[in-house]
Amino acid sequence: MAEDRLISPAETDDDAAVERSLRPSALADFPGQPRVRENLAIAIEAAKKRGDALDHQLLYGPPGLGKTTLANIVAHEMGVSIRTTSGPAIERPGDLAAILTNLKQHDILFIDEIHRLSLAVEEILYPAMEDFALDLVIGKGPGARSVRLNMPKFTLIGATTRYAMVSAPMRDRFGSVYRLDFYDAETLATIINRSASILGVCLPEDAAMEIASRSRGTPRIANRLLRRVRDFAEVRTDGKVTLEGTREALALLEIDALGLDDSDRSVLRAIIHKFNGGPVGLETIAASISEEADTIMDVYEPFLLQCGFLHRTPRGRVATAAAYRHLGLEPPRSAPMGQQQAGLWDEADGAEA
Ligand code: ADP
Repeated sequence: MAEDRLISPAETDDDAAVERSLRPSALADFPGQPRVRENLAIAIEAAKKRGDALDHQLLYGPPGLGKTTLANIVAHEMGVSIRTTSGPAIERPGDLAAILTNLKQHDILFIDEIHRLSLAVEEILYPAMEDFALDLVIGKGPGARSVRLNMPKFTLIGATTRYAMVSAPMRDRFGSVYRLDFYDAETLATIINRSASILGVCLPEDAAMEIASRSRGTPRIANRLLRRVRDFAEVRTDGKVTLEGTREALALLEIDALGLDDSDRSVLRAIIHKFNGGPVGLETIAASISEEADTIMDVYEPFLLQCGFLHRTPRGRVATAAAYRHLGLEPPRSAPMGQQQAGLWDEADGAEA
């Protein structure tokens, strides 16, 4: 399961407590994502000057890039409370109505995995987002009537890994929509150094860069690898972290030079060995390696696309020449070149090829 993988960007129980302690609480302590950060900083300052709530914001991108962190930072910077929930946790319209009636003026409601809200729940959310009103149906059958309750002005921050699966009426109701990108190694090294100082780990610069370059562009993975490197150093070298020890620790975890682990490589191997390099549909790849198609789409594929190892075509996924070479194989002539597809991972998002 992807959740058990060391490099899975998804949060695990083990992560939850440590992650809270490593989460920056101010925009100034949030490196990377400059466009998102600058836009948010302006929107926050303007809203504060007006004494108004912030517009609704939608954040999307692969897991572990800082969507939840940003929502909490916004609440902190606005000086308001945040209520956190997720699409699958809100099962019935009544659940959402209960959450909404408990919000106070200018509070933030953070809904993770917002693409998984049911239609019935979304319909309660629309008037709440637009008119700050709650339309409740009282009674049943012909005698049922609708009453409208006004509620305090609040800010909805939605997060999703699947922008294409957020319904169009839902998207339209957000004042701003931001895509979070994978981080470069320098920015990840900054994040790792900050985490190391919070955790009390003395980390040499070269070891920080080594972890950064193997973290799949993802802060959550960077923090997790840092903790594994620290554990390794505690057991093997009396707690002293060195570049050599870092490399050894990462090799033991079977993370390669680009940060790919065995599960990533098994996706590439399946396409290459079982399907002649593709094109092959996502569901077929998933079945061949006993993995969920959703997990491949959310967790493995974005980074493999970013590395230029996969191409999405109308007929399915294709392994590039770079993918063959990364696995130490000679690419066939038919394999497409593997130029990086940074930023393109979401464009066909949700579309089964
Ligand atoms: P998402 O909600 O996108 O899955 P999170 O906001 O939960 O991701 O981030 C995962 C972890 O990564 C957080 O605990 C936080 O410590 C760290 N993190 C993410 N982005 C940053 C950043 N820009 N700077 C520092 N830490 C970050």
